Amino acid sequence: MYKVREHEDYKESECIPSEQWNKVARDLENFDPSPLTANEGWKTSSAKISIPLGPKKQGNQIPKNLHHRSLIDVIKKVVEHDPRAKNFHLFPYEEYVKKGDQVERVYGELYSSNSFLEEFRNLQAQPPEPGCDLERVVLGLQFWSDATVLANFGSHKLWPVYMYFGNESKYIRSKATEETGWDVGYIPQLPEEIQDFMKHVSGKPAKQALLTHCRRELYQAVLMLLFDDQFAEAYEHGIVLTCQDGIKRRVFPRVSTWSADYPEKALLSTIRENGRCPCPRCFVQKENIHKFGSASDQRTRTTRKRRDNDWRRNLIRKCRHHLYNLGHALTGAFVKKLLDPFSLTPNENALSARLHHLGFDFHDILVVDLLHEVEIGEWKGLLSHLIRMLYSCGDNAVEEMNARFRAVPTFGTDTIRQCPKNVAEGKHRAARDFEDLLQTSHAVFEDMFGPEHSESISELLYVAAEWHCLAKLRMHTDSTLQDLVAVTVELGNQLRKFAEKIAPDFVTKETPAEAAARARRHAATQKTSTEPISTSSARKAKMYHLNRYKLHALGDYVDMICEFGTTDSYNTQIGEARHRLKKQAYRKTNKRDFELQIIKRGNIQESLLIIEQRVKEWKKKFSTHRTPSSPPTVDAEAKSNEQNSELEIDDSKRYTLARNPDASISIGTIQEKYSEDPCMRHFNVMLFDYILCNLRGVRYQVDGPRYPSHEATKLRIRGDKIHTHNTLRLHYTTYDVRRATDFIKSYLKFSSTKIQHQTDGNQNRSTIMLSAYDKDDNPKPNSFWYARVLGIFHVYARDIDGSSEDFKRIDILWVRWFGQDPDQQDRFGWKYKRTERVGFQEDDLEGMSPFGFVDPSDVVRAAHLIPAFAQRRTTELLQDSLAQDKEGDFAFYCVNRFVDRDMYMRHRGGGVGHTDQTQFTDSEPYELGESTMVPAEGLSDEQDHEDEMDDGVLAAFDRRTEVEEDVEEEDVDEEDDDVNKDINGDDEELSESGGEFIDDLYED
Ligand SMILES: [Zn+2]
Repeated sequence: MYKVREHEDYKESECIPSEQWNKVARDLENFDPSPLTANEGWKTSSAKISIPLGPKKQGNQIPKNLHHRSLIDVIKKVVEHDPRAKNFHLFPYEEYVKKGDQVERVYGELYSSNSFLEEFRNLQAQPPEPGCDLERVVLGLQFWSDATVLANFGSHKLWPVYMYFGNESKYIRSKATEETGWDVGYIPQLPEEIQDFMKHVSGKPAKQALLTHCRRELYQAVLMLLFDDQFAEAYEHGIVLTCQDGIKRRVFPRVSTWSADYPEKALLSTIRENGRCPCPRCFVQKENIHKFGSASDQRTRTTRKRRDNDWRRNLIRKCRHHLYNLGHALTGAFVKKLLDPFSLTPNENALSARLHHLGFDFHDILVVDLLHEVEIGEWKGLLSHLIRMLYSCGDNAVEEMNARFRAVPTFGTDTIRQCPKNVAEGKHRAARDFEDLLQTSHAVFEDMFGPEHSESISELLYVAAEWHCLAKLRMHTDSTLQDLVAVTVELGNQLRKFAEKIAPDFVTKETPAEAAARARRHAATQKTSTEPISTSSARKAKMYHLNRYKLHALGDYVDMICEFGTTDSYNTQIGEARHRLKKQAYRKTNKRDFELQIIKRGNIQESLLIIEQRVKEWKKKFSTHRTPSSPPTVDAEAKSNEQNSELEIDDSKRYTLARNPDASISIGTIQEKYSEDPCMRHFNVMLFDYILCNLRGVRYQVDGPRYPSHEATKLRIRGDKIHTHNTLRLHYTTYDVRRATDFIKSYLKFSSTKIQHQTDGNQNRSTIMLSAYDKDDNPKPNSFWYARVLGIFHVYARDIDGSSEDFKRIDILWVRWFGQDPDQQDRFGWKYKRTERVGFQEDDLEGMSPFGFVDPSDVVRAAHLIPAFAQRRTTELLQDSLAQDKEGDFAFYCVNRFVDRDMYMRHRGGGVGHTDQTQFTDSEPYELGESTMVPAEGLSDEQDHEDEMDDGVLAAFDRRTEVEEDVEEEDVDEEDDDVNKDINGDDEELSESGGEFIDDLYED
């Protein structure tokens, strides 16, 4: 409602007087005392769960107040009434890019992915519904579910299930501000009374295992309510809906993806968390996870895939019969023997019960989760262990690491943010902070682990950062996927080397922060537990191992991207961002029955959004029908962006500079005042040469003046002045064909009388990259020159030999050049697992000035250079000069190619949106390395080696193949006893993953 009032077209005189607004707001909120009206589709139900209570006893409990919504009502509402559904892609397509002679498939959106295409083709192959000749289309539904704590203080939790439409572009869908998600249900917690009930029936308090079982039953019961008969009916026969283009179509809803963290994936797929076969998609054995990346590992994923087949369903049925009818104990040997080898839980799977007979398999929708599995999963684990290793080297090493992280320059508006003060302590780190640490650690950890291991650890960090970049690309092609395969194999090798050969050389214990956190956690558990738990904060020994589910998940990315499009389409981060809206809504409730109040607010919000969209549509229609005499409408977007009004907007240019300079300074003054400064030595000569080249349309030479000095007398500069700017906005097209802007700051601050260092901390944002040329002036593909922008100028100049009498405005960047590290030469990149190193050029090296001028439109992008911390700062390159940091420059800087995905693709080459000649050529595909294997006990690996690279990892590209399981003959091992530990750990999972902080948005 407030949006309405703030709208530009709202005139108070014609509408409701302001003093009545509060009343109207109250009325609106009180409107419709029951928010669960049929048209919004919300229902409150109870779900019956049956509890196995030992021989001949069985109880039913009915948790009430289960809020959920009819999926079909939401689908109808969106497809028929939400104007945003106009942009839905109802017809899938394959996307290709042609570069040179090469044609490659492009992967990105869900509606151009293999799974969507397959659904569509299958649908068209089916016989039509009797008497119906309507077009048949697929709605790809994407679900997110995750529990969240609603307030920083207090215990209220919400466990929502969100639904999104994969037919909408992921670029819109993944923006929290677009609010394209729909709440479809809230999963309740197990009611307290259940304990009383069980005590009443069996005479003793329920064991954890039984409560865990009840929680799983409840979860499936909620899914049964969500995916009701109406949904199954629509799944099979479709529903006829009038789409936004006015055409009636038969719409078939399909469950495309389900994004959740690992504990919830386990719940959904009715498997036991961290059991013998911890993966919800395949039967990989926990002890084989360290083979990650190898051919045998990849084979397991395809040949031992979990399927929702008769075998699985019969097994569960049999188990439940023994549990409920014959009274076997839940934790007894019988149940364990039956289920533990496959880590299954004795719960009927709701999705299987509802949709299996229609050809649906719930294992197929469980997508990878970059946020929990990598950023705050595997990467966090590796970083923590590196920190433990540093502690074992002494506290100084940890201090040094903290200092280095703090000294990493920021980049972009929030691409790399200022590092936390104490990385080792690990307090208050958001998921996106971990991403920043991953993108910069290859430079930070340089030479920190002694001569024996530093090199190997740098390689590992390089490969980890590269894997992360590739896994997070928003647009893939066949060749980038090939690279991801190769990098995955290498990451496996590197991690095994680290775990087997490097980590054991350090005596690692918990860090003090970890020990304290464990003690706190245990103290909290002790309050509720009867068993004694050690709450000592003495640091325990901690080793690095690889057999974790999260690591295993890293091997599924290539397959997932082929099947469902790129990871940004189904990252759990989208759901985490939506949690924020729920938290905002919660704050406005009176905290009693808050779920209902959140639903009520959500309903109003949804309706307002649709109204807003419609108003926009009408306005558009209205404005196109206006008579030509009426004044042109101002684009609201341009108007809102007020700062643009003072900018020189020129579409033909790659950059924007303000029309009015921040300062103007006379060339004579600079020359006189700073004649001693090395950066001024050839300032005039080079500046005049640059301007003359520009006026005469001649290419300016970077390595020396083109014109003899007497030519400068033919140049006229208006007022003998340069006009300076603080910021250059540089526009570019990203690899995934989007528009983006870099902000480049001037390193020096100019006033009319003097030049000084910037004091606003932005001097780090002054590094740029330009396309590099070889000796014969040909562009070198995918390689760059780097420079620090000392000043951003414009001048008005005229050539008296020229034809024009007018002064021409020329924009100029005054730069200090970086040169390649001569010792490194070309030994960087994937082949050497190192980043490029550059350093400022020495003064007057071979007669060449380390300073120069460049045209702003030649700049490719802003660059992120991280000091090579192993070498100290020096002032020897330039004696006393404004062009260097007060405390001196670092001898070298690492070029951070991992700072964002666009930068990575520029270095790699082959970005779809990168069409400039120098970046046109694709890089050679990464060579697929040999996979190293650590022989596991009792297993012959010789066979694995035989066909290591022939059919192994590349098989990920093949379409899914249905393979019969050979799991039935598995040995039964009864050693696993962690049945109690799984979903009870839910709270821990929340706190471990940082609760609040996960929701922080990423840069892209
Ligand atoms: Zn698996």
